[in-house]
Amino acid sequence: PVELYGEHGRLLEEHCARALEGSDSVLEWTPPLEDGSLRHLQTSLSPLRGEDGAVEGGVGISRDISRLKQMEAQLVAADRMVAVGTLAASVAHEINNPLSAILANLGLALDELPAIADVEARARLGEMLGDTRFAAQRVKEIAQDLRILAREDARPGSVSVTGALEAAARLAWNELRHRARLVRELSPVPPVLGSDSRLGQVFLNLLVNAAQAIPEGSADGHRITIRTGLAPGNRVRVEVADTGCGMTGAILERLFTPFFTTKPSGQGTGLGLSISRRIVEELGGTIEVESEPGRGSLFRVLLPAAPEAPPPAVEPRRSSVPALRRARVLVVEDEEPVARVVCRTLRSQHDVEAVPARVALERVERGERFDLILCDLMMPDMTGMDLHARLASAAPEQARHMLFLTGGAFTPAARAFLSSGVRHVLKPFDTEDLRRAVNEALA
Ligand code: ADP
Ligand code: MG
Repeated sequence: PVELYGEHGRLLEEHCARALEGSDSVLEWTPPLEDGSLRHLQTSLSPLRGEDGAVEGGVGISRDISRLKQMEAQLVAADRMVAVGTLAASVAHEINNPLSAILANLGLALDELPAIADVEARARLGEMLGDTRFAAQRVKEIAQDLRILAREDARPGSVSVTGALEAAARLAWNELRHRARLVRELSPVPPVLGSDSRLGQVFLNLLVNAAQAIPEGSADGHRITIRTGLAPGNRVRVEVADTGCGMTGAILERLFTPFFTTKPSGQGTGLGLSISRRIVEELGGTIEVESEPGRGSLFRVLLPAAPEAPPPAVEPRRSSVPALRRARVLVVEDEEPVARVVCRTLRSQHDVEAVPARVALERVERGERFDLILCDLMMPDMTGMDLHARLASAAPEQARHMLFLTGGAFTPAARAFLSSGVRHVLKPFDTEDLRRAVNEALA
C-alpha cells in the first residue's frame, strides 16, 4: 500500500469516481511503488453493482506491463538504429564517388609534379596537393567509419578490436575533443569473433558516455583512455576509462537497466549500456565497470579471442604497382568524373575505354572480348549485377573477367552479390588501390 499524492493521487481518484458513477475505465500509469521502483501499471477500474443494479463500490485490477513497455520502446529504438544505419550507408555511398575522383586525381597530379620545371612552383604545388590529399584521406576514413554504423559487415568474422576501437574514437572525436585528451594505450591483441559494426557500436557507446561524463572546456585537465590487452582465459581486454564525474553506488546498480539514464531527455536514452551488454554477451564476452564519484569510471569489455586464425593473407605491398601486361580494359561507370579518372589512372599501363553499360553489353554480344571489364555496381539504368547476369548468359567467360567498383553495397541484393565471391574494389579508392586491384584481377 502506498499513499498517493499529487498527480498520481488525483489520477486514481478521478478514475475511482468514474467507477462509482457506473463506468469502466483503464488507466496506464507509473505510480511510485513502496520499494521505490518504477513500474508501468495498467489499472482497470469497474463499478461493483448490488443485486438491484445500483453501484455499491468499485473494483480495480492492476497489471504490471513494464516488460511490454520496455520491449515496445526497444523496438522503436532498434527501428531508429536501422534508419540511422541506412542513412549512414547512403551518405557514405554519395560521398564515395566524388571522393574517388578527388583522391585518384590528386595521386595522378602528384605523379606529374616532377615535370614542372619551376622549382619553387613545384614545391608550392607539392605542398598544396599533399595537404589536400591528407585532408581527402580523412574524409575517406570518415566515410569508411560510417559503414560501421551502416551494419554492412554484420556477418560475424574475425575482427580487430583495435580497429573497431579506433574507428569508434574517430566517430566520437567531435564529442571528445572539447572535453578531454584521448590517450591510447594499445597493446597488440588477437582478433575476436564478431562484427565491426556491432563492436564499433559498443565502443562508440562507451566513448560517448565517457565524454558526456566530463564537462566541456577543460580538455587539458581530463583524459579518456582507450586500452587493449590480454586477459586470462584467452580473452581480449578492452578498456575505456575517463576522469569524469564517476558514479554512485545507486547508479552503478541500475547502469545496465534499459532506459536508465541520468541525462536530460534528448541527450540520453538510457539504452546505450543495455544494448552494449547484450551485444558483448552475444559474442560470449562480459562487461565490467569500476567507478567512484568524482574520480571517473572504467568500463572493461572482455571478449574471447577468435579461434586460431587461418594463415594471414599476404599483405599486399603498399609500394607502387607495376602492371603485369598491357591489357584491354573496358570501364563501365555512370559517374563521369569517376569514369575519367579510372581511365586516366590505368591508361599508362593498359588500353582503356569507358562506355555505358548498354554499349558494353552490345559490344560483347557482337563478339568483342576484353581482358577485364571494370564495372560500377550501382548504376541507374543497368546495375553491375544486371550486366553481370546478362554477360553470364551471353558470354560466360567474359562475365568471369569482371571487377566491380562499389561505394558500399547497401541493398541486400548487392550485399549478397558481393559476398558471392565476385572481385570488387571499394570506393573511395586512390590510384594505387585501383592499379593493384586491376593487376590482381588480371593475374
Ligand atoms: P545514456 O548514455 O543514454 O544515459 P547509457 O545506458 O549509455 O544511457 O548509460 C546509462 C547511465 O549510466 C548514464 O545516464 C550515466 O548516468 C551512467 N554512465 C554511463 N557511463 C558513464 C560514465 N563513463 N561516467 C559516468 N556515468 C556513466
Ligand atoms: Mg550512453
